[in-house]
Amino acid sequence: MIYIGKYKVMADQLRRDGTDESQIEKNVREEMERDVFEIENGTTDLEAYRLWKSWPEERREDHLNGVLCGNCGSLTSFAPGYNVRKGKWGLILQGNCSKCGGRIRKSWR
Ligand SMILES: [Zn+2]
Repeated sequence: MIYIGKYKVMADQLRRDGTDESQIEKNVREEMERDVFEIENGTTDLEAYRLWKSWPEERREDHLNGVLCGNCGSLTSFAPGYNVRKGKWGLILQGNCSKCGGRIRKSWR
C-alpha cells in the first residue's frame, strides 16, 4: 500500500514508533474511512468557522437554539460537535439534535 500526503506522514510517524506494517495499514485505513465519513457529513471549513466565531456569542447562541428537528419534531438545539460550513448563501450549521440525536441543520443568508 502506498501512502500519500497526510497518510504518508501518519505512516512515517507510526514506523518511527516501531509499529509493524500491517498495523500501520490498518490505522491508515481507519483514518481514511473517518475522512470519507467527515466529507460526507460536511466538515467544518476554516473560513466558515472564522466567520462563525467572529459573531457575538449571543448571536451564535440564538442560532444554536430554536432549531426544529425533523426526527422528533421538537424545537431543539445543536448537540456539541456540530459543523459549520459555507453554503451558497451563507453559513450552514449541521449537527445532531440534543434531544433525540437526529440530524439537524440550519442555514441562512
Ligand atoms: Zn430531535
